[in-house]
Amino acid sequence: MPPTLPDAALLARCKARRDQLARHMAAAGGGVALLPTAPEVLRNRDVDYPYRHDSYFYYLTAFTEPQALLALQANAAGQSRSVLFCRDKNAEREIWDGYRWGPEAAREAFGFDAALSIDSLDAELPKLLADQPAVWWPFAVHKGFETRVEGWLAAVRAQARNAVTAPHTQHDVCALLDDMRLFKDDDELGVIRRACAISAQAHVRAMQACARSVRQPPPQGLREYHLEAELLYTFRQHGAQSPAYGSIVAAGANACVLHYRAGDAAVRADDLVLIDAACELDGYASDITRTFPAGGRFSGAQRDLYAVVLAAQAAALDACRDGARFTDPHDAALRVLAQGMLDFGLVPRDTAADVDAVLATGAYKRFYMHRTSHWMGMDVHDCGDYAEPGQAIDILPDGSRKRPARILRPGMVLTIEPGLYVRAADDVPAAFHGIGIRIEDDVAIRAAGQPCEVLTADAPKTIEAIEELMRG
Ligand code: MG
Ligand code: ZN
Repeated sequence: MPPTLPDAALLARCKARRDQLARHMAAAGGGVALLPTAPEVLRNRDVDYPYRHDSYFYYLTAFTEPQALLALQANAAGQSRSVLFCRDKNAEREIWDGYRWGPEAAREAFGFDAALSIDSLDAELPKLLADQPAVWWPFAVHKGFETRVEGWLAAVRAQARNAVTAPHTQHDVCALLDDMRLFKDDDELGVIRRACAISAQAHVRAMQACARSVRQPPPQGLREYHLEAELLYTFRQHGAQSPAYGSIVAAGANACVLHYRAGDAAVRADDLVLIDAACELDGYASDITRTFPAGGRFSGAQRDLYAVVLAAQAAALDACRDGARFTDPHDAALRVLAQGMLDFGLVPRDTAADVDAVLATGAYKRFYMHRTSHWMGMDVHDCGDYAEPGQAIDILPDGSRKRPARILRPGMVLTIEPGLYVRAADDVPAAFHGIGIRIEDDVAIRAAGQPCEVLTADAPKTIEAIEELMRG
């Protein structure tokens, strides 16, 4: 049985994106763009990792089968022609692995100008590239692809005696696609909203399950993986295809390990639990972190630091506006965190007199060592230039070079995720040892004068809301 075809609106958007890409290519002289999808990856003998398409390829095609490549021809007048290469129909393999569209049906159903067998790639691409001014492909994305491009170019050159010329220029097609993908249209925002709502619900479920299990522990005692199971259950229950990234469920001091994964550590009633987990839905990510007291009530020290991170997050959210710089939310969060570090003695007053001194000396980095934001979209760390295109590079007093940060515009989606991580150490107040807190939401920038849209607002984050939920 053929899988459900993506809806007509999505296919129309993919076509519009191919046309837009072709216009951008035409403005730079035209040529042929080659975009392969992701390879299948072996996990261990005979077992692959769950297949995930390449995001650039999917953005332009909505085609999710492995072993496929899009060739997009754009002439200098801006006319385009799309050719999909995909797997042939194969009755034998389809018994084992499931339906394949095959070139015929794929062309028809997905709306390409032509479709050919992926097995004919080496024969057909030299023809497509003949007499073209340039070849465009994603630089440094697919391992080994440059060698294949070189092979196809060499094959064109081999026909030189037939008065065929080979492309003499190569461009990174990502330079164009990254900027297109950075601005999400309304339909994309709709999918991201739904992904965020599912993920928020998963966090709610994990908090409730945690409170319940602390009161009535399972036989082996409550473990991090029990909470991970609640997350995964919720993702799939609502149709999300997979987590958007490896779920972090970190009890107690494990929260101070930034890339900790859900493990089998015991969750104790007086621990904080940090969960950074979210689903991918229909090719779009979400990304949420919440930190909550396993037993349902923040202790004094936990409460003090949590309030600092929450205030930092509020300041950062407030800075997420059309016209602001990408770094403004980070700078806003950092000032609040630095003040908190002084107030609670994490940074001793005799080493830094005020917030500016904490920032200038970099003393905050011991407790807050990551950035506050990243782009989010098809990839959880989405593509998009973090510097504003076309703006002059600043040469700083120390001689280093800095490009001015990106200006936030409507349709951009980013995370806001400040945190505090206090590892046990002799020179740090003991009450805070092993406390790790991060609060992360996803936001969409709205039109001038409007605050950003918080896409993940359904996951409670104030002290009162979390304690109330966990009491219930
Ligand atoms: Mg995250
Ligand atoms: Zn994130």
